[in-house]
Order: sequence, then C-alpha cells, then structure tokens
Amino acid sequence: MLVRFNEISPHGSQYDIRKIDGIEGSAGLVLCGSLDVRCSLTRKGDAKVELQGWLKATLLLECDRCLASYRREVDTALQMLFEVETGASWQVKDLDYRIPDLDTIVLDAPVIDLDDVIRQQLYLALPMKSLCSDQCRGICSRCGANRNHGPCGCADEHENSPFAVLAQLKKE
Ligand SMILES: [Zn+2]
Ligand SMILES: [Zn+2]
Repeated sequence: MLVRFNEISPHGSQYDIRKIDGIEGSAGLVLCGSLDVRCSLTRKGDAKVELQGWLKATLLLECDRCLASYRREVDTALQMLFEVETGASWQVKDLDYRIPDLDTIVLDAPVIDLDDVIRQQLYLALPMKSLCSDQCRGICSRCGANRNHGPCGCADEHENSPFAVLAQLKKE
C-alpha cells in the first residue's frame, strides 16, 4: 500500500493492514494466517511523517537442526520517522522536529510504501539461528530419524560413545 504525504490527514490517518503483496516466496518469509497491522501516520512538517503502530503475524519457519516446520509469533511495536531528503530539509535538519532513538527512513519522494515497511519488520523478526526449540535434538546422522520423536535404535552405537568403547573392551 502506497501512501502519499499529501493524503495523510492533518490529524493523522489510521491504517489496518491484513495482507501485503509479494511476501510469499520471498526468502525465509512464509506467513501463517493473515497479518494484523495497525498503524497511524502523522505529518510532522512538509517533509516528515511519523509512523506509530503495532505488527502481529505468525511466521512459518524451518528448524535448522531437525528441518521440521514450526511457528513463530511476531508481535512488535512500529515506530519510525520518514523524511524526504530535499535541499531545504537538509539545511534545517538540526533545527527541525526530532525524536531521539526513532528510526529515520530517508525517502526519495514523499511516498511511503507500507508493504515494504512491514516486509522489512518481518525480516528483522527472523531469528539468527532458526530452532524449533532450544532443546531440539536434531536428526540422527546415521538413520536420519528426528530425535525429538524419541531415541532411534542406533543412539548408543556411535563409535566414539563411551558405550561403544565399553562394548569393544568386553569383546576383547
Ligand atoms: Zn528442531
Ligand atoms: Zn539413528
């Protein structure tokens, strides 16, 4: 959804977004169910717009260790400032409206692509290491069984395990 600065009401405009284009198939991002995004845009001068809101979504991810699909809830506040970089706004930058610690996104034109904002927030929510749980036991390197579903038969036959060494000693 594209929002032009001049479409935003002086009192702020509200947006409810349930769906964005081009998310399915983008690397690592698979949504489970619909999005729930509520946000407001407020003009802070000719060249600035503040966004405040909330994003909720459920991502369908794949565990790096056991390859199973699992769900991850995303529930995050949205707060950022959009600024059009023009000669004029550049000159008055320091005197102008400013909120500390607010992400500032510099735009080429006075148009905000809300879909893009949401997509980026979802990417930021992706974990560095994707695990279905911290206790995930992964896949047996021998038989390929998912060890979260219980121990596989070959569990204590690994050559380097203390059991294997003991078994070898007994044989001798
Ligand atoms: Zn796992
Ligand atoms: Zn096994």
